[in-house]
Amino acid sequence: MKASKSKAKEKKTLDQAGIDNFKASLRGELIQRSDEGYDAARKIYNGMIDKRPLMIARCADVADVITAVTFAREHDVLLAIRSGGHNGAGLGICDDGLVIDLSRMKGVRVDPAKGTVRVEPGCTWGDVDHATHAFGLAVPCGIISTTGVSGLALGGGHGYLTRKYGLTVDNLLEADVVLADGRMVTANKRENADLYWAIRGGGGNFGIVTSFLFKAHPVDTVYAGPMLWHIDQAEELMKWYRDFSTSAPKDLYGFFAFLKVPPGPPFPEHLHTKTMCGIIWCYSGPPEKAQKSLQPARDFSPPALELVGQMPFPALQTMFDALLPTGLQWYWSGDFLNELSDEAIATHIKYGSDLPTLLSTMHIYPIDGAVHRVGKDETAFSYRDANWSMVIGGIDPDPANKERITSWTKEYWKAVHPYSAGGAYVNFMMEEGQDRVKATYRGNYKRLLAVKKKYDPANLFRVNQNIKPDA
Ligand SMILES: Cc1cc2nc3c(=O)[nH]c(=O)nc-3n(C[C@H](O)[C@H](O)[C@H](O)COP(=O)(O)OP(=O)(O)OC[C@H]3O[C@@H](n4cnc5c(N)ncnc54)[C@H](O)[C@@H]3O)c2cc1C
Repeated sequence: MKASKSKAKEKKTLDQAGIDNFKASLRGELIQRSDEGYDAARKIYNGMIDKRPLMIARCADVADVITAVTFAREHDVLLAIRSGGHNGAGLGICDDGLVIDLSRMKGVRVDPAKGTVRVEPGCTWGDVDHATHAFGLAVPCGIISTTGVSGLALGGGHGYLTRKYGLTVDNLLEADVVLADGRMVTANKRENADLYWAIRGGGGNFGIVTSFLFKAHPVDTVYAGPMLWHIDQAEELMKWYRDFSTSAPKDLYGFFAFLKVPPGPPFPEHLHTKTMCGIIWCYSGPPEKAQKSLQPARDFSPPALELVGQMPFPALQTMFDALLPTGLQWYWSGDFLNELSDEAIATHIKYGSDLPTLLSTMHIYPIDGAVHRVGKDETAFSYRDANWSMVIGGIDPDPANKERITSWTKEYWKAVHPYSAGGAYVNFMMEEGQDRVKATYRGNYKRLLAVKKKYDPANLFRVNQNIKPDA
């Protein structure tokens, strides 16, 4: 009791003089509610999230991050960390607290001799792809270039190169982390190995990563793009995909989608706004085998539309950027899948053929191959036995459709969840409660809890899919 009382005394009162002092000690900016740029600075990718922080510290360097963490801890201010701002649940921002905004910290340094790349936390994957592609390299990431490196990497990270080279966390060699007490430490196999284990899937629970060191792989041009089929072929396609997806060579990755065809080029007019099903491919093996690699899909049934071709890897990564600009309304929910039973497929088709808006979608991403070669307790990311990560996304530009996309997503998820492996990818969750967080980590949750208690016992870093230290 005495200890907690004296701790409480250590807290400083939050007054304007203290805030002015904090502002003066930053190399970057401190944006407050009365500042002109405040509304722009608090906007994040998901237009459904409308939070009003007290201040936003747009950090210029690690020293700023340390200063801001210390300020939040000493003044007992709620703290959020924002890097790419793409989190669906809006966990890069908070109401009435301090946002540590890392979006200005954008350094990338490729070491072609070692095949590694050092990345600052404010980078998007587009920034990294741009830098690595010049050397014929790529780091396994997602399927779009505008997503932040930090949030994606710390939650696991799956995308076009996953079957071949693993999750993003499987390629994280080292990270610098600013801890709750203001110290900065390096986490890798040898130093702070418990922290290194926890940040590979455990999200922003343990500290603020100010530098990532990734392994990069030789990836240059890929044979990639979408193939679409009419929706009345969805059942056959999903059954074919179920078998092909897990048995295909590891050079080949294809994610399944229900979608409405965008009303513009390069899509032919007769398909505009039609609900269809499809697979978006990425073949990263030898170019002379590229054509043949996708022949089984054409043999299954000639697609109604095929936009597959050779392209630089960054071109694939940016293919859907323009369709999904910042500020859309998003509500999404996901699950890991071990199998796709006939019943599950029938349920998917019921909801997937009734997309509520032009941009709403459902994706099934493969996470087999190289992901399965890592043990489920080797990193915090635990679903090493699942074959797919599924996400249902209710998406629309119009806030008036918020309820419509939300209820469609919730109903769809409720109907297919019984066929899932139980938990979901932490980066495909809204704020869904502690049971869902526990289900994400399964057998790794206890160990995460111990690491949380060691590095952040007071839960300073709690605006995230939170591992509560007092749970
Ligand atoms: C259009 C779209 C496509 C996507 N595609 C994929 C995909 O293909 N594959 C995939 O794996 N995911 C995908 N995602 C999900 C994505 O991984 C998450 O949205 C992720 O949270 C985004 O990271 P961010 O840095 O942009 O997020 P932010 O909103 O900036 O931060 C999210 C959370 O990460 C934590 N965090 C951020 N930066 C740091 C840091 N430096 N140190 C410690 N903690 C930090 C914070 O706790 C915060 O709560 C996609 C998301 C969108 C919107």
